[in-house]
Amino acid sequence: MPKSYNIAVLKGDGIGPEVTEAAIKVLNAVQESSQNLTLNFLYGEAGYHCIAEYGTNLPEKTVALIKRTHACLKGPMTTPETPGAPVSVAVTLRRMFNLYANVRPCRSFPSVEALKPNIDLVVVRENTEGLYSGAEFELSPGVGVALRIITKEASLRIAEFAFKLAAKRKKHLTYVHKGNILRITDGIFKDAVKEVSLKYPDVAIDDLHVDAATMQLIKKPETFDVVVTTNLFGDILSDEAAQVTGSLGLAAGANIGETYGMFEPVHGSAPKYAGQNRVNPIATIMAASMMLDYLSEKDAAAKIEKAVIDVLTEGKIRTADLGGSSTTTEMSNAIASKIR
Ligand code: NAD
Repeated sequence: MPKSYNIAVLKGDGIGPEVTEAAIKVLNAVQESSQNLTLNFLYGEAGYHCIAEYGTNLPEKTVALIKRTHACLKGPMTTPETPGAPVSVAVTLRRMFNLYANVRPCRSFPSVEALKPNIDLVVVRENTEGLYSGAEFELSPGVGVALRIITKEASLRIAEFAFKLAAKRKKHLTYVHKGNILRITDGIFKDAVKEVSLKYPDVAIDDLHVDAATMQLIKKPETFDVVVTTNLFGDILSDEAAQVTGSLGLAAGANIGETYGMFEPVHGSAPKYAGQNRVNPIATIMAASMMLDYLSEKDAAAKIEKAVIDVLTEGKIRTADLGGSSTTTEMSNAIASKIR
């Protein structure tokens, strides 16, 4: 049965347009090589560059466009850091569409120098609350407060997601927290994980304080499978895990809710490299693969993954982060050609 999907594409800021166009090129190669798949790309404006024109980084018309699509491929965006400026588009979209699970796989790739050769883990990060709740105030000059909101409901929901994933993988889940200091908030999170664990007796669980987890990720990354944690800890751990496997330029992320999915690289807009055609597009290309997998287009998703692995295994095309001098375009062309 031919399948047709509307895909929202937000190119973003900095290196966003380059890496997003690279992923679209690869998706077009997938469409050309499959008889039954049509992807209609609907381009929306979002990001720092919109603020001057629209007064916001997420115009209403873009939200309306997203609502007409099956999934979103999102490039990284620059977030202004002055208090009162528009908040992160990623954080807004995650909350607006209730994309509660941020899934960030990290694994060693062939011919890519990683700390260990056999790393294959997934960070599952709670995506809607914690220190990203947006509740931050200046009580008086020089005294600031940020609320770390942790609810039982969101903790149960992310734990359920993580256990389901662990049950399909190596049946090992590590929950990461700072329960010795954040006794109430991380107490709620820990209790939720333990409650859900009763439904998954085949999944072995262990836990780590977040500081110990950052150390273990470097010392013994191969011992992790699924890691579930709260919002900020997951953001930090997934960047670390990406670098442990070789480069942030390889790490893709999915933001999954009950009815919608948004897919993006883990990295940001790296403004200092914008327009130079030198960054690695694989993170965004792998995000596109995760998107096809989410849409149940398993063969198409696997084609992208295989093409990425083949190009990395050959080792002829390497971007600067992988120790080479190939361009973003050369990398995406090589992956698209493998697919064709
Ligand atoms: P960053 O991820 O943009 O860059 C950190 C460093 O990682 C870069 O200097 C570069 O050395 C490396 N890097 C990143 N992407 C790479 C790629 N594709 N290939 C090779 N190397 C790569 O993080 P930052 O400097 O902390 O943030 C820059 C901007 O991005 C900020 O405005 C931040 O708010 C934003 N950001 C956005 C998102 C998002 O849109 N989801 C995520 C993180 C950061």
